[in-house]
This record gives sequence, structure tokens and C-alpha cells, in this order.
Amino acid sequence: MIKKFIRRVLGLDSGAPRRVPRSDHGVSRTRLTPATLKVCDALRDAGFAAYVVGGAVRDLLLGITPKDFDVATDARPEQIKPLFSRAFIIGRRFRLVHVMLGQETIEVSTFRAADAASAEKDQHGRVLRDNVFGSIEEDAKRRDFTVNALYYDPATEEVIDFHGGLGDLKKRLMRVIGDPETRYREDPVRMLRAVRLAAKLGLAIEADTRAPIRGLAPLIDTVPAARVFDEMLKLLLSGHASACLRQLRAEGLHKGVLPLLDVILDQPLGERFVTLALAQTDERVRAERSVSPAFLFAALLWHEVLAEWKARLARDEPPIPALEQAMDTVLDAQCEKLAITRKLTATMREVWAMQPRFEQRSGPRPYRLLAAERFRMSYDFLALRAASGEVPEELEAWWRSFQAADHETRSEMLLAESTGPKKRRRRRRKQGAAAGAPGA
Ligand code: ATP
Ligand code: MG
Repeated sequence: MIKKFIRRVLGLDSGAPRRVPRSDHGVSRTRLTPATLKVCDALRDAGFAAYVVGGAVRDLLLGITPKDFDVATDARPEQIKPLFSRAFIIGRRFRLVHVMLGQETIEVSTFRAADAASAEKDQHGRVLRDNVFGSIEEDAKRRDFTVNALYYDPATEEVIDFHGGLGDLKKRLMRVIGDPETRYREDPVRMLRAVRLAAKLGLAIEADTRAPIRGLAPLIDTVPAARVFDEMLKLLLSGHASACLRQLRAEGLHKGVLPLLDVILDQPLGERFVTLALAQTDERVRAERSVSPAFLFAALLWHEVLAEWKARLARDEPPIPALEQAMDTVLDAQCEKLAITRKLTATMREVWAMQPRFEQRSGPRPYRLLAAERFRMSYDFLALRAASGEVPEELEAWWRSFQAADHETRSEMLLAESTGPKKRRRRRRKQGAAAGAPGA
């Protein structure tokens, strides 16, 4: 009674939590990975509370296999670490523990409070520091969406629901905890998360949660570029990239993350190319095949590079330096907003720079290209260009056959290329390049 009163006075309460038994929600503890169970059991044996929390609980309730398991506890990092032989305290702003058991890494974090009143914020309301331990109620309240604030107790197989997440899951709704505008101001990335998670889970964004997004979209600019990039990567590799980008556009959020997307999608060829690239990526992710972020960003920005390259060729710049310059210009413009890592841009450049080399199908050059380190990725990129109608299908087909052919057939293919109108071809290619080789 007194406890409840104090909680209410402190404004921590949004109603008593609901403890929902397994008979009602259906998730058995056997659905957790062995490492997750071990971590929770070890914490409990040491006298601490331990719950699976966040995305994993939400996904299990929806019948989706979770990517990873997070555990929340009332133990402090320095109390957690000694319980496991391979555990590391990580994070500077907020310390948490990575427990490694076999192949798995379980992220264990101490209940955290979001003391909205005292947290340090910027002029837009963005929280700069919130590094306070708290109770489980406080921990639930600082989470972003009701469906992300569910706690699963492996000891009792109960789900603890502080904010009506179970009901929202049933209604298939993403709903912000608390006042949506305030929560987006505290952390604008939550707007991107709303879109990404709704697309991934097939949930609708609840009306009040959705309403402020368009108006607040420009706040994405205030978020450090590296964080926007991480979120963008998650979005693109979610297996629902097409749906996500469509939704981002619908909400006016894409300007902050991919400023040139509108320009690209306005050209029919660009739109086909990007749409194909995203559809292909989603297919690969869903088939659990690997996807290269470099390939994906190279695809997203290709038509931008292409436009810049063509403009330079039209000014009579020599093709190869013109392409180099075009790549620089586009990457410089993008990296301001989107901190694409250096490793990634290096690969993107390689893939782009290889594209004109596919036009050369005589002499020793095709062999050199075939042996190049990024050949496979560059060929896949060429295939995408062909499928979108940017270069002739015949060019892609030739390279497909060339790769598969034995030595003899390869040289025959080359001969066919270089006999007869060899010189003319060469000249034509050169002229073609000067007039805009990029499939002009
Ligand atoms: P995913 O399936 O992509 O992993 P997730 O919801 O698990 O989705 P994580 O980034 O792994 O996303 O975050 C784990 C949990 O931490 C979330 O479920 C949510 O409770 C909380 N969380 C993450 N980001 C935020 C944020 N920006 N604001 C508030 N809570 C957050
Ligand atoms: Mg997660």
C-alpha cells in the first residue's frame, strides 16, 4: 500500500504490472537458448533477479526466432562478472556485461532508470547522458515501445507486463511508452526504430505514436552520424528493407538517413535499380545467406555516382578520372550524414570502379578482371545493372558464361569478341565511353 503510494507520488507508476502465466502466453523456457538459461539460473542462484527482456521476448511471443537474447538483472556489473568464467564489462556511457558461453554471447544489463528530469539534454530535448541504475519498473519505463518492455522470468515462465505490451502485441500495434513527442525528442532514433520494427514484425504504428513523426523527422540530423548509420544498417539487413524504405519515405524520415534517396527514386532507372537491389537483399537475408553492407550501399548510391559521372563525361573529362571524381563527390556528400565506415567505402569504390572494366571483353583483360579480388561482388553488381535495364542483358550473360566456361571455351569467347570488327569495336567503345559509357 505504502509502496504503491510512494511509486505514484514519484510518478513511476503507470499501473501495477501484470504477471501472465505460461498457460496464457504459451512461451516455454525451453524456447530460450542454453546460454540464456544458464545465465539466468546463475544470477538467480546468486540471489539476484534475472529476466529475459526486450526484442527476444517480443519475438518469442510472435513466434519469431530471436536474433539474440538480452538479460536484465538487479545485479551490478561488478557483481555479474565474477559469476562467469568468460564475462566482460563493456560500454563507457552505460556499463553492461557480455557473458560468453560456447558460441553464444548474452548481453546482461543492470536495471536502468531514465531520470527524465535530471538527465542531461541538448536544446531539442535529446538525452545526452542517462547513466543511472534503477528498479525493474524504471527499467521498463525507459524502454521505447510497449512490446519491447516485456520481461520473461525463466524461473516461473511468467511474462511481466508493465505497459500493456501483451495487449498491443495481440492488437499488432507498436505503441510508444509515455508521450510520443517527448520520447522522440529524447532519442530521435526511436522514430527509425518504430518504422523498422513495424516492418519486421508486421505491426501497425499506433496513431498517436505515428502522428508526431513527420514533424520531428528533421531531428534525425542531431543524432551522431555513426548511430544513424548503425540503425540504417539494421534496417537494410532486416530482411524487410524494401518495406522499411517505403515506410521511411511515407513518414518523411528518409531525408535524414539517405538524403539523396528521393533524387535517385525519381529517375525510373534509379528506382528500378534500388528496388531490385533491396528485393534481392531481402530474399538473401530471409534465406539466411550473407549480405554485404558494402554491396548494398554501393547499390543505393550507384545512380548518384552515375549521374555525377555522366555530367563529368559531358564536360569532356577522361572517363576513369571522371568516375573517381564522381565517387569522391557522392561519398563526401553522404558521409556527412551517414558515417559509412572507411572499410565499407573502400569496397564500394572497388565495386564501382570495376564496372567499366566489364565492357572490355578482348585480350588478356577479362582474365585479369576474373582474378580480381572483388570480381564476384562486382559481377553481381553488373547483373543488377543489367536486370534494371541500365546495361544490355547480353553483357551480363557473356560474363556469366565466361566465368563458367573451361579454358578453351573462354579463349573462343574472346576470339569471337576480338575477330572481325575488333578495331572498330574498340574505337566505338572509346567513343561510347567519351559520350557516356555508363550505359548512356
Ligand atoms: P532487434 O530485433 O532489432 O534486436 P530490439 O528491440 O531487440 O530489436 P535492440 O537494439 O536489440 O532492439 O534493443 C533491445 C531493447 O532495448 C529493446 O527491445 C528496447 O527495450 C530497448 N531499446 C533499444 N533501443 C532503445 C531506444 N532507443 N530507446 C529506448 N529503449 C531502447
Ligand atoms: Mg535485440
